[in-house]
Amino acid sequence: MQQPGRMMDRPLLVSAILEHGTAQFGAQQIVSRETDGSLHRYTFTDLAARARQLANALQALGLKAGSTVGSIAWNNHRHLEAYYAVSGSGMVMHTCNPRLHPEQLAYIINHADDEVVLFDTSFAPLVKAVAAHCPRVRHWVALCGETDLPTLEGGPAVLAVDRLIQAQSDRFEWPELDEKTGAALCYTSGTTGHPKGVLYSHRALCLSALSACLPGVLSLWAQETLLPVVPMFHINAWCLPYAALISGAKLVLPGPRLDPASLYELMESERVTVSAGVPTIWMGLIQHVEQHQLRFSTMRRTGVGGSAMPKALIAKFNDVYGVDVRHGWGMTETTAIATMSNLGPDEMARPAEERHTLVGKQGKSVFGIEIKVVDENGTTLPRDGVSQGELMVRGQWIVERYHKAERSALVEGWFPTGDIATIDAQGVMQIRDRTKDVIKSGGEWISSIDLENAAVAHPAVAMAAVIGVKHPRWDERPLMFIVLKPGQELSKQQVLDFLTERVAKWWLPDEVLFVDSLPLGGTGKVQKNELRHQHGGVFEGR
Ligand code: AMP
Repeated sequence: MQQPGRMMDRPLLVSAILEHGTAQFGAQQIVSRETDGSLHRYTFTDLAARARQLANALQALGLKAGSTVGSIAWNNHRHLEAYYAVSGSGMVMHTCNPRLHPEQLAYIINHADDEVVLFDTSFAPLVKAVAAHCPRVRHWVALCGETDLPTLEGGPAVLAVDRLIQAQSDRFEWPELDEKTGAALCYTSGTTGHPKGVLYSHRALCLSALSACLPGVLSLWAQETLLPVVPMFHINAWCLPYAALISGAKLVLPGPRLDPASLYELMESERVTVSAGVPTIWMGLIQHVEQHQLRFSTMRRTGVGGSAMPKALIAKFNDVYGVDVRHGWGMTETTAIATMSNLGPDEMARPAEERHTLVGKQGKSVFGIEIKVVDENGTTLPRDGVSQGELMVRGQWIVERYHKAERSALVEGWFPTGDIATIDAQGVMQIRDRTKDVIKSGGEWISSIDLENAAVAHPAVAMAAVIGVKHPRWDERPLMFIVLKPGQELSKQQVLDFLTERVAKWWLPDEVLFVDSLPLGGTGKVQKNELRHQHGGVFEGR
């Protein structure tokens, strides 16, 4: 007969992260770029005091456990205070993506039942545009001091958060919640239809944040300085605002200044050792560093995900700048990081070229997460690195159903990701495409990601995107868009010649279009839908 474990049953709670961080690393710093560009500096202890004041203030406004509080904000200290105050007191922190279309923004605020919305002053015009469409929001609170309070002529009345918390006590008894209680809410980017909400539990956030600290993931401890470029409105900034307080790492928040020059300057001045963000950010940063012949004096590693990190960029970070790239995969539905490159000694001993190829894959599932790939009938495919099918995922911090959905999103206990992947015998997963992005030519799959990676390896290419467009004979053929680096020139033939050495001949794009920029979505990913919309008919009738 099984024996019951005789251990305490203590819940995993967001408030416990704050109290842990304060008790163990109270003097650790948080540096935050404010909306006006200035740097704000305080400690974990100061953060906790203001978070408790905000929890009291929200209670005074009549909010209760289970209420939802929206935020439209950058990565900054007041947003961080809200993260802890709202979730800690049993409410739901709903982070809104400010790059959503105002209609979609209003939709998610209403769908989430936000009673209060916290916003950065830079988003005042957006608030003015959506407020009239969000009748259930009782208070619009600007994340600023009284003197910076914007007036929204013809818009809603606005309170300044600093004023709101001023008279409040910095003591607050965090409720002892069930760890399965909803703590944070984030909506998918929603390329089709309405965005769908994912309601994260305290347990999911804590476990995912703990996992992010592991040596095989981002290696966080009290000697690191962490700069999450990934926005706090996009999957909880990969849970890094929690991971910093769990590990005791100094936290640097970049605010609205995400341009390469500002990021580089902040990394250097605050002696940042670890960062995290999407590849487009790193492409820009490397270009800046190269152009100005700079070096990273303290940066040791960077977490990358959200879209595939090109091998050429991995090589550059690693070989030229000594920055270790940790390439992971995750989605809104997986709370944060679900897989991560984690090379063993044999793999590390391989030539640089092979190592970079491995890191270019999306890695192994971290403990707590399981992955598999299945064919159209749902049959599990072998882990041979070749058989590709839909990636399925299950685990401690994976969505079960979307917010307010009546039906589970799972298929036989697994979440279907919509990504097409392979997994090899060592468990290394490689994303080959999104189901909707994959190009099927003559019945065979062409990976848009592989083609893009191959093109970005060209020294004159800044960005590349590939979409499948209808073709009368082959069903679909690849169309490539290229953004050149400043001052560079390249012909279609030169691109094709370069690609010929890197991909199968039948993968070569039928057309290469040079463009000034690519449409980027709210989370820095190329909006392929937009490209398809504009250019989908290119080969029709050929
Ligand atoms: P989102 O929910 O907006 O974060 O988007 C999640 C999607 O981004 C995933 O389903 C993948 O299609 C894509 N994605 C995330 N990380 C990677 C990666 N490392 N490589 C390729 N695609 C990725």
